[in-house]
Amino acid sequence: MSNRSYLVTGGAGFIGSHIAHALVKRGDRVRILDDLSTGLLDNLAAVRSDVEIIEGDLRDPLGEEAHEVAPELVQRYPDRALLLATDRCAIYCRFCTRSRIVGSGGGPRSELRLMPALEYLRNHPEIRDLIISGGDPLAMSTTRIVRILQAVRCIPSVKSFEVPTALSSGAQKLGQPVPLSNLVVDEKRSRLHPAQAKVPLRDSCSNGLVNGRSVAS
Ligand code: SF4
Repeated sequence: MSNRSYLVTGGAGFIGSHIAHALVKRGDRVRILDDLSTGLLDNLAAVRSDVEIIEGDLRDPLGEEAHEVAPELVQRYPDRALLLATDRCAIYCRFCTRSRIVGSGGGPRSELRLMPALEYLRNHPEIRDLIISGGDPLAMSTTRIVRILQAVRCIPSVKSFEVPTALSSGAQKLGQPVPLSNLVVDEKRSRLHPAQAKVPLRDSCSNGLVNGRSVAS
């Protein structure tokens, strides 16, 4: 047995399966990644016990497309959903698990486009946590993100929402201010992702309490 390991993407297809057969024949370890949309497991019948088969799609490593319950709304867990509010990001990092859509065009989703997602949330009170993401939601204009947050706040069953962003850390590295001083959110129901938002939220909130609600900046 060789010490070499190979990952064959599209390994259940015509070409991929032939590559897999050749690698197995010379004693290499083989893993196959294929979403089986066109590939066939039958193509691997002769080496089935010699290879590891992973069903998946490199373009969508988190399997979000299969869990889209409304346009721009993904529900992978009973009580949690993900709203893809924009395809824009200020960072475009190499680790993006959503690179299939981030920067692909269209920009921030219109209110009309997001209406079915909000309707779905209204009709599914079991969803208590909402992640508003994209892209980077804070790459949208303040007006736009505030309107989305206001719409979400009108859905009482959504008890908390999260606005993950890498914008604050990126802007800090560039020595630029983050222009979010007008972003009024609900103190009890909102939070920035602690791993991504490098600006201390507690400081921001305590500095920005307005009429009992917090201003994240
Ligand atoms: S910062 Fe987030 S949205 Fe932007 S490219 Fe990276 S992972 Fe994707």
